[in-house]
Amino acid sequence: MKIKAAVLREPNKPYTIEELELDPPKEREVLVRYKYTGYCRSDYHLLKGEIPIMLPLVAGHEAAGIVEDVGPGVTKVKKGDHVGVTWMIPCGKCPQCYRGKGNICSGNFGAFLEGMLLDGTSRMRDKEGKMVRHGNFVSGFSTANVIPEDGVIPMPKDFPLEQAALMGCCVPTGWGTVCNTANVQPGDSAAVYGLGGVGLNVLRALALRHAYPIFAIDLEGSKKSMAMEFGATHFIDNSKEDPVRVIQLATGGVEMPDGTIMGGGVDYSFEAIGDPGAQIQAYWSSGIGGKIVFPGITPHDQPTNLPLMLLPLHQKSILGNLYGAISTHIDIPRMTQLAKTHDLKLDKLITKKFKLEEINDVAEAMEKRQIKGRWVCEFD
Ligand SMILES: [Zn+2]
Ligand SMILES: [Zn+2]
Repeated sequence: MKIKAAVLREPNKPYTIEELELDPPKEREVLVRYKYTGYCRSDYHLLKGEIPIMLPLVAGHEAAGIVEDVGPGVTKVKKGDHVGVTWMIPCGKCPQCYRGKGNICSGNFGAFLEGMLLDGTSRMRDKEGKMVRHGNFVSGFSTANVIPEDGVIPMPKDFPLEQAALMGCCVPTGWGTVCNTANVQPGDSAAVYGLGGVGLNVLRALALRHAYPIFAIDLEGSKKSMAMEFGATHFIDNSKEDPVRVIQLATGGVEMPDGTIMGGGVDYSFEAIGDPGAQIQAYWSSGIGGKIVFPGITPHDQPTNLPLMLLPLHQKSILGNLYGAISTHIDIPRMTQLAKTHDLKLDKLITKKFKLEEINDVAEAMEKRQIKGRWVCEFD
């Protein structure tokens, strides 16, 4: 069948909107007609060549839609079912999966990196008959695509599909970072750097875990009202104030005669944007025994220059985190149930719907830090 897709052909060049040929689903694969796909910062990193990946590729990894067809042997879903799509498909057989850490499955990682489906082949070809790669088993910037059966998550039909799309990346990443990786307890203090889709979900999870105080930090002062709505107790405009100083003084730090501050700092400091400068600030914002958590992807050519002398002396920890350390097929349905109570405020998180043809404008808006909340691509 013919599909329309935004194709990445060269790093740091615009997406090209193309008509592609999509082969039908093979054994244990599902054809999904997409309705919504979120634009994640990782998509922007791929576009800019900041995450190395094999091209040409159809990216977009935060998608939801309706099952249009199923291949032989599929039992999980049927035509007409609503589904979200996950970009991490645990193989169930690798050491990480056996240890219950399917979010860092190594068994399917080769196919993930090569942009193939689980049998090592692609279902997409361009006008010249050349193979086009799948982005993270999802390829959400296309009108329809073929997904491994284990990559689809059934969604209730009374749950809005635009919100179901967010269950594929920013919601589990943000939530899992707070509830699994950090395991924040009531009364713990926290700071969140970068209020994109993941950062806002980190904030929401901190609020529902009764962290206090919760500092939200961003370079865009206009994000203050959204930060407070999502649960921040303090907002710091990083373009106007030094957040480290503000946080230290607000958490028991004492200013010395030379202007330095002794003590203070939060229990948990999250850096959700993948920016080396913010990572350094997140590090210094944490107090003695503090944990610094990085769920964001940092561009491969931007090292973070952290002086670590105090890491052992203050017994700090730096924690990496992929996909919120979730168990995909258990936690996404659970979070979906929670989202239906409106506590996650996903209706407020989605602030704009755009058409696939506008995707280069959306990337430009992300570059200019004009995106507040999550923008989702809407398909007919
Ligand atoms: Zn993402
Ligand atoms: Zn595995």
